[in-house]
Amino acid sequence: MFCFVLVGAQTDKEVIKTIYSTSLTNGQSYEWLRYLSNQIGGRLSGSLNAQKAVEWTKEELDKLGLDRVWLQPVMVPKWVRGIKEHAYIESAAGKSTTVNICALGGSVATPALGIKANVVEVQSFEELEALGRGNVEGKIVFFNRPMQADLIITYEAYGGCVNQRYSGAVEAAKYGAVGVIVRSMNLRLDDFPHTGSMKYNDLPVEKRIPSAAISTNDAELLSTMLKLDGQTQLYFKQNCKQLKDVQSYNVIGEITGSEYPNEYILVGGHLDSWDLGDGSHDDGAGVVQSMDVLRLLKESGVKPKRSIRVVLFMNEENGLRGATKYAQEAKQKGENHIFALESDAGGFTPRGFAFDCSDVSFNQVLAWKHLFKPYLIHYFEKAGSGADVGPLKTSTNVLAGLRPDSQRYFDHHHASNDTFDAVNKRELELGAATMTALVYLFDTYGVNPIPNESELKK
Ligand SMILES: [Zn+2]
Repeated sequence: MFCFVLVGAQTDKEVIKTIYSTSLTNGQSYEWLRYLSNQIGGRLSGSLNAQKAVEWTKEELDKLGLDRVWLQPVMVPKWVRGIKEHAYIESAAGKSTTVNICALGGSVATPALGIKANVVEVQSFEELEALGRGNVEGKIVFFNRPMQADLIITYEAYGGCVNQRYSGAVEAAKYGAVGVIVRSMNLRLDDFPHTGSMKYNDLPVEKRIPSAAISTNDAELLSTMLKLDGQTQLYFKQNCKQLKDVQSYNVIGEITGSEYPNEYILVGGHLDSWDLGDGSHDDGAGVVQSMDVLRLLKESGVKPKRSIRVVLFMNEENGLRGATKYAQEAKQKGENHIFALESDAGGFTPRGFAFDCSDVSFNQVLAWKHLFKPYLIHYFEKAGSGADVGPLKTSTNVLAGLRPDSQRYFDHHHASNDTFDAVNKRELELGAATMTALVYLFDTYGVNPIPNESELKK
């Protein structure tokens, strides 16, 4: 009781200091991540591990003494990798070098005996089109455009390359290719292949070709060998499969607001992950940080005026079904989500936030920037927020994404080295505190519901 009285008399600066101190000295995020990563592991949508993660996170939220904790049912796609992929470069009969590949999520399998074919290397869809069917038919297309190293915000480098992974198979199939190999979305040269989603769109089943990622070291090797001998062949074999949709859940917890219970503030991450690692950075970190936001508010003596929800979304990686379902239901129920914050960019040192909102709201946020200065949080920009909160967008609300330092994120993203040991405890806790501080400010001041006139005309 004393705590609440005390908070009422405290300045924002003091409350935020308490939040950071609590996270760094009495945080729960790291221990939660240890369990999620090491005791449960990778959580591909529709898998047994994804179900275990649903049950365990609900149990942990139940222990926090929130006002409500529940599961929101959602049907999700189920894609399975099957036995480990195998690939080699064959420079002459009997002369081969094994390379590291992994099937892309959503890809079809190769024929049971695998595929061996000549390889055509391209950097872009335009280059592929210029080559045309005559140079592509019957071959494996190798998309080898690297991430641009001189972009400071590495998500931009990712954005500049990811169409190769997502749409490479559809594009290559147009010209009669038999398979696709994509350079991993990784700025570093190493041996880890990085998976991720790909789509066939409306391509008929019989025209779908298998698609895999190759490690950056092996992409360099393959490219060199092709330059030495254009007749170099690649063999690959993968056994993945798309099964029927299965039942899964978003996990939701709520502290009901004391003054404005019908104004919702959401904080979340995605509970599913890829299967190669244990999904510690993507997005175990965002899950445990979001859970800790509600706990840190309580521990810091904050009694929210508005309803604060933690949402652990299912199926961000290969379908976004959880986010779509959540937004649909929120709309049906007329729930007014004034602010939604996602952490899905790794558990690294926080730098700030990207905001998707009106100029009026952005100016409101900029007025709070000085409160974050002692914690070296300085990045406040208007940009995309997060895939899971995106569907909640309205003309008046504020969406945001936590922006940690991104230099090492793509060393681990969607690869077998996205594991617990790659997450630093203090960095993770600083992220949780930074999110909690922003949630506290939105809870205290709300969101200005009136965009300015020029924005209404947009
Ligand atoms: Zn993610």
